[in-house]
Order: sequence, then structure tokens, then C-alpha cells
Amino acid sequence: MALLQISEPGMTTAPHQHRLAAGIDLGTTNSLIATVRSGSADTLADEKGEHLLPSIIHYAENDIVEVGESAKEKALEDPMNTLASVKRLMGRGTEDLTTLGGHLPYDFADTESSVPRIKTRAGEVSAIEASAEILRVLKARAEKTLGDDLSGVVITVPAYFDDAQREATRDAAKLANLNVYRLINEPTAAAIAYGLDQKAEGVIAVYDLGGGTFDVSILRLSKGVFEVLATGGNSALGGDDFDHAIAQWVLEQAQLENTNDQKLLRRALTTAREAKEALTGQEQVKINLGGWEGELSRTTFNQLIDSLVKKTLMACRRSLRDASLEKDQIINVVMVGGSTRVPYVREKVAEFFEKEPLVNIDPDRVVAIGAAQQADVLAGNKPDDEMLLLDVIPLSLGLEMMGGLVEKVISRNTTIPITRAQEFTTFKDGQTALSIHVLQGERETVESNRSLGKFVLRNIPPMVAGAARIKVIFQVDADGLLSVSAEEATTGTKSQIEIKPSYGLTDVEIEGMLRDSIENAKADMEIRSLREQQVEADRSMEALDAAMKQDESTLLSEEERQRLLAARESLAVVRSTSEHSEEIKAAIKAMEKAADFYVERRMNSSVREAMSGHNVDEF
Ligand code: ADP
Ligand code: MG
Repeated sequence: MALLQISEPGMTTAPHQHRLAAGIDLGTTNSLIATVRSGSADTLADEKGEHLLPSIIHYAENDIVEVGESAKEKALEDPMNTLASVKRLMGRGTEDLTTLGGHLPYDFADTESSVPRIKTRAGEVSAIEASAEILRVLKARAEKTLGDDLSGVVITVPAYFDDAQREATRDAAKLANLNVYRLINEPTAAAIAYGLDQKAEGVIAVYDLGGGTFDVSILRLSKGVFEVLATGGNSALGGDDFDHAIAQWVLEQAQLENTNDQKLLRRALTTAREAKEALTGQEQVKINLGGWEGELSRTTFNQLIDSLVKKTLMACRRSLRDASLEKDQIINVVMVGGSTRVPYVREKVAEFFEKEPLVNIDPDRVVAIGAAQQADVLAGNKPDDEMLLLDVIPLSLGLEMMGGLVEKVISRNTTIPITRAQEFTTFKDGQTALSIHVLQGERETVESNRSLGKFVLRNIPPMVAGAARIKVIFQVDADGLLSVSAEEATTGTKSQIEIKPSYGLTDVEIEGMLRDSIENAKADMEIRSLREQQVEADRSMEALDAAMKQDESTLLSEEERQRLLAARESLAVVRSTSEHSEEIKAAIKAMEKAADFYVERRMNSSVREAMSGHNVDEF
């Protein structure tokens, strides 16, 4: 299963030329760049020896843009021109701001555009532009350290990033002049780092608690192939929330909880973060804020974060269920992200999985290291490598059918990249267009799923209902982007769309959709069979109408014609009034029975026609 190397026209194919490739962990809090040198991957440091680049951007006077530690220092004195946690805004729309607002104390411009823009001294900037600044610094760091141009990078994103967020990440890379080989999920990158080091086989869980996001992935490692069995998490939960919990506590202790002083609030957060990190190594920490002095013990801290940690464990339980696995089938638990340094987190994770988690690769760097290894493979530096990456889609993808039902084409947790084709046909005689409505979700009906896009396949040659062969192809690429195409087989008429939902679902919404589908499973099944029977009734009536239009005058007496119309009318009444699929089914049966003699007569006459060179009609 070696990856094939295909060189672009004009590019050298020299077999031993090493292309400079890097892995980038574009984090909410910190970003890193790593590369493989002499066969081993490591992160690159700046001139001060720091590997972690704080994901903070400061727009200073005279068009100077500072990124990292120096920008972080400006957060207190010049907060409105200092941007942090912009990753939370990637791929989000202005209407998402209310849900994200609490963590983002910026001055947003009132724009017509759906992308939020933050007012700064340098003008209005989007999260994409701000992220590009971080990427530029990392690119320059790599090229300076290694003395060569980067040929391509692998950038990591949280497993729950949807299409819009992944697109935004790619756009940021484009602005920074980076060639992106692939976006991969952060937990998957960590698994690569561990998998290659240990050659472990079996199922593992990756628990990634960073500053702003939580991801859990259940992966199966076998013979160098990583398969993601399930993913889960929360894109609005991380160490920042620990800081907020402490800051809140401190402000209450200092009786400052009602302050509007932005600088004081920011200082409270900085103080909280320092206290939290100190509590990783000690039992008590002294705190000073706005004239208040006190102590925070590890026990109190543990109580403050207990409900947050529990939320992460609930996501772990859900992912295990998605993968149909029991805890004892997990052979290793990998810890990723700075917040997994918190002793209480390690303790609770160990308790949940009933085993000690792996912490031997630096949890801050493990993602960048895995990404660098993947970049090295994709650059073609390791032609014999058999590493193949597989991720999964978080929610099922399907199409709208007659009766407002959803037909799943790719089910949730299917590994990507994937291509699935399904054949559909027309409902009416002479139908020349087919509307394709792409949906995401687990429910049975269109209105309870999320609409991703619609398009129409036109110019279908007029045919009898059910004769057209329309192939709909769903394709999800390695980055998780979906494209849907439809083609009519006899004529080759084609139409397609790329699905880039403008705003993605938050994991809270995904969670809600999953919960709904479980809670409504029974009701959904009932609606489904009701609607199926309604569609079936419509089809029977349409077929009868079409047949009678053609030959009622030659094949039916007036009395027979009235009898058939009466049977049709009884079905029409039941179809539009009954709420029970069984009743409709019985009414369809009754009409078909009443029409039996007519069908037989038509067949005989068709056979006669066929024998004289005509086609057999269907009813
Ligand atoms: P992200 O992936 O969101 O960029 P990181 O993996 O870099 O985040 O983790 C950053 C988080 O880790 C921050 O909330 C930071 O306070 C926390 N952190 C870093 N070191 C420690 C520590 N020693 N103890 C507790 N938390 C820590
Ligand atoms: Mg991270």
C-alpha cells in the first residue's frame, strides 16, 4: 500500500532529492512547526530557544505585526489590538459570535460580510488573516533554521472542524504562501507520533485537551495503518476554561466580580493561568489581584474544574459507544495538549479508562511531530513508507427522497477518503429534471436533518417513470470536504456541486443531533413507514392514471372505468387522511386488487402489440 509518487510537470523527479516538508500544529493557544531531519522528527525553536509560539497577534504602530511572546506581553497594555484564540473564529459567521462571545473581548466591525472582522489599528482583520500571520512566522522560522524553502506542509486541525473551518485553515495557509499537502486531525497526528515510535498494534484512545479545544479519537493501529474508528469532543472546552473558572473564583474572593475594568479582567485571567500551571508542580499557590491576596489549593482547583473534566469523560464514553467498544479493549490512552499536564486530569482519565495514560512524548509537541512525519511521507521523502491515514466523518450524509425522507448514502463514522455511488430513478413519466438535496444528520426526515446544499440535474430525456438511471456520487476527500455529482446513465447528462457549508456545526449541535436521533428513533421509524406508504400510494395512482390515459377507451367499459375510479378515490382519501402506514398499505392493496383485471387485459394487449413490433408497457 505504498503511496504513489506523481511529480508535477516541470518538477524534478530525482529520486534522492529531499524535499523540505514540515508539520504545523496551528493551535488555539500555541502553535508549533516540526520537521524530519536525519530520520527523526522534532519541533523547531526560535532564536531564543522557544518551541511554542503563542498564537497571539499584536498590531503595533507603523504597520508592525508582532506574533508570539512579544505580542502576548502587549495583551495587558493594548488589548484591543492584540488578538488571541482566533482559531475559535475560523470558519464561523457573524451570527456565531453570540455563542462564542464570552471568550472573545474584541471590537467587532459591523460588516455586511458574514465573516466576523475585528477592528484593530491595522484595520479590520478576519481570523483567517490573523492565522496567516502565525503561519508566516512559523514558515520563516523553518526556512531560516533549515536554510531552504519549504516545499509543503501538513497542518493539523481539531477532529471536529467542519468543512468551513477546514477551508478557512487552507485559506490562511494560502495567504501565508504555504503549499498544503493535507490537513489532518490533531489526535491522528499524535497517534502517528506514538505509532511510529512504538509500533503498537490494537485500539488506542487519544485524549487531547489543549487551551481551547477538547478532542477524543478512538484509533486502531495495525501494520502501520491508522484507522480512526470514532471521534468526539468539544470545540469550546479547554485549559482556557480552567483559567476562567479560577479567575471567577479569584474575583469573587476579592469581591470584584462585578467589575467592568477590561484590564483587570485580563489580569485576572493571566494570574489564573499562572496559578493553574504552578499547581501542576505544587499543592498551593499564592495569588495577588487588585489589592487582594490569598491562596489557592490544588484541592479547591480540582473542585473548580471537576465539571469540566467530567464533560471530557462523557465525550470519551460516547466515542467508545460509537466505535462499539468497551473500555477494556483500549490498549493505550495517549495524552495530548498542555492541559493534560494538570494532575487531576491525568488522574480522572486514568480512573475512567482504568489504565495509566501515556505521557512520554511531550504533550505540547506530539501533534506537530506526527504532522511532520506525515508531511515527510507526502513530500515523497519516504517512498517505501506504508503509512496510510484514515479519518472518519462525524455525521451521516444523505439525500432527500420522495415524501421528505432521507436516504443515507454514507453513514456516520465511515472512514475517509470515501466515494459512494447510489442509483436513483424518476418518479413521474416524462420527468426531465431531478432535484438533488444533500443532507447531514441521523434523523429519518428532511426537516430534522441539516441541509448542506441543493442542485438540479436537468435535461434528463423524457422516459417512463422508473426507467431513468441516475447515479449520484458522494465523494469525501482526505480533508473531509464533500462533493456530490449526479449523472444520467443513458445520456451522460451531468451536474455537480462542492459542498462547503458556510458555517459549520459546533460539536454541541452535533451532540444535540445525535441525541435527538436516539430519542426520536421510534417516532422516526413510524414517520418513515407512513411516508413510504404515502409515496407508494402516489406511485400506484400515478401509474393507474397514466395507463388509463393511454387505453381506457379501448380496453374498458364505462362501468369498469367508474369502478376503477372509485377504487382510486378510496385510496386517495385514505392516503391523505390516515396516519397509519398499515391502513394506507391495505388501501393500496385494495386498489391493486380492483385493478387486477385491467392489468391482465393490458398485458395481453401489450403482448399482442409486442408481437407486432411494439414495446411492452408497464403497469
Ligand atoms: P492548544 O492546542 O489549544 O493550542 P496547548 O496544547 O498548547 O493548546 O495547551 C495550552 C494549554 O495548556 C493552556 O491552557 C495552558 O495554560 C495549559 N498548560 C500548559 N502548561 C501547563 C501546565 N504545566 N499545567 C497546566 N496547564 C498547562
Ligand atoms: Mg493542541
